[in-house]
Amino acid sequence: MAVCPNCEAEIEYLQYSGRKSCSARYFGGHIYEVDQEFAEFGDEQWCCPKCHEVLFTNECLADGFLRGKVIPAKVLGEGG
Ligand SMILES: [Zn+2]
Repeated sequence: MAVCPNCEAEIEYLQYSGRKSCSARYFGGHIYEVDQEFAEFGDEQWCCPKCHEVLFTNECLADGFLRGKVIPAKVLGEGG
């Protein structure tokens, strides 16, 4: 299991926050037909669910972390 480098909690998922906007056609009855999706990568964050520290801003690294392949060298989110 992955271990948070900030609070050392064992975590099995990361709290994701981000913004995605899309252009879709709505037909009623919860039926959407998505034409285009726009990801705004600059706003995406993967945080520790325990201490809410931002650990990753990159999905590949976040995925590797949960698979035990990436050890974060330092905690992001302070200073810049
Ligand atoms: Zn943590």
